[in-house]
Amino acid sequence: MSSSSTVDLSHHLSNEAKLRLPNPMKEIWRLARRKPNMVSLANGDPHSSLYPIKGLQFEVASLEEEDPVAAWRTAGPSAPSQILKSSRDDPCILPVQTAFQYTTGAGLVEAQQALTELANFYHNPPDHVVTLTLGNGDAVTKCFRLLGNPGDHFLADEFTFSALANAAVPQGIRWVPLKIDEGGLIPEELERTMADWNEERGPRPHVLYTVPCGQNPPGSTLTVERRKKIYELAQRFDLVIIEDDPYYFLQYTSPASSDGAEARALSPSFVSIDVDGRVLRVDSFSKIIAPGMRLGWITSSAFFHAHLVTYTDSATQHPHAFGQIFITELLGPAGWSVKGFDKWVRSLRNEYQRRRDLFLSLFEKEVGPTGLARAGTPEAGMFVWARINVERHPRFRRDTGAAGARTNCRQLMVELFEKCLDGGLVVMPASVFALTLDPKYNDAENPIEDRFNYFRLTFAGTEEAMREGLAILGLSLREFFEQK
Ligand code: PLP
Ligand code: PMP
Repeated sequence: MSSSSTVDLSHHLSNEAKLRLPNPMKEIWRLARRKPNMVSLANGDPHSSLYPIKGLQFEVASLEEEDPVAAWRTAGPSAPSQILKSSRDDPCILPVQTAFQYTTGAGLVEAQQALTELANFYHNPPDHVVTLTLGNGDAVTKCFRLLGNPGDHFLADEFTFSALANAAVPQGIRWVPLKIDEGGLIPEELERTMADWNEERGPRPHVLYTVPCGQNPPGSTLTVERRKKIYELAQRFDLVIIEDDPYYFLQYTSPASSDGAEARALSPSFVSIDVDGRVLRVDSFSKIIAPGMRLGWITSSAFFHAHLVTYTDSATQHPHAFGQIFITELLGPAGWSVKGFDKWVRSLRNEYQRRRDLFLSLFEKEVGPTGLARAGTPEAGMFVWARINVERHPRFRRDTGAAGARTNCRQLMVELFEKCLDGGLVVMPASVFALTLDPKYNDAENPIEDRFNYFRLTFAGTEEAMREGLAILGLSLREFFEQK
């Protein structure tokens, strides 16, 4: 990764980002690090001799086993483990004195190096730089602030991760929904939306927010062909892509086919094909280590990196030392190293694949015979998008005259949700993820409310939860569809 992008994308910056001044004290702080032995009376940095911390130890899984995740899960207290250490007095990559000091918004140099190595291993992106974050929630909302002016239009799947899409709304960003199918975002829909854009609707969309693997909620993963087409369209229509990819490492391997073709590898990310610097790739440890890690990283052009650092320097500052020590030592030679990390995540995705397969076989047994719902087959992540065949309900109606909707799908799905709750099952209804119900953006001919007949179900939990939950779903469906 070197650090120059080839295309000038400065016109994508929000006014807020353009107006942000670098933190002046950080600028002086940088001067104090210009050469060794600089004397600084400048910054109010508590001296490391005053930190009441002598060392830190993290006990993590060791990787001796062929399938380390399975061994770790089942071995209980005797599970083989290894210790990661940071110390004030003994050698380590990130000693306490350095780790707990102030640094820049990019993160501690050692942690940034460790994550750069990881980003290179999986994506080898040309001309990109890594910025540490507090996870993808923090990272994506920072990207929105970097790029969005009030009144701007951003594009996303019509059902997407609403916790983040909603975060853009009070900023004045308006979402333009794109239709999806089992393969996720349809490139032709993106092309049509951009080609048909009428300036009377307001500014042309200039940002695409996408979750390319195991999309939350529909579980879809973009094929290589779609990724290439979408990137070409981003170039043609001058879009910046925010690639929010927390499920990247949970892409299941399809077995090698009988004609000897190799097992499918991890899909190439948008950042790996980004020659213009128009992709901000957003990675997180939440789904591969633990959500409470609150640590992740953005891989972007040096230009966007610099603006992200300026923002971070005057807001959250770099992430906590605990997490940075953890990942630096974990990815270092005394920890797992990048190769070991790769072994763990391969084993982890096998585990998720086993869970998916169990979930689908239970679905087939408990729900399949009703003929009232159909489960999608995800190739990554932890979600199944189950289509409820709502048109088979005796009270299903078309042309209800209700505002927006052409059917009573929405109402029936509310009732089915309640029915499941009464039976003791919580599911995530599609309505939660609808990008917009605003008539200005909703498709009048084919409104989104008529596609609310999906539940997002997860196989991230226990086997018992899957067994009991799917039995309740089967029963609730039967009873609900018998109602007149
Ligand atoms: N983006 C997507 C698509 C997610 O599904 C999630 C987690 O549910 C997040 C972002 C939030 O991730 P993090 O825990 O890294 O903030
Ligand atoms: N507010 C004031 C008045 C400060 O002096 C500082 C630290 N120099 C900060 C905020 C930033 O503090 P923190 O390291 O907790 O983000």
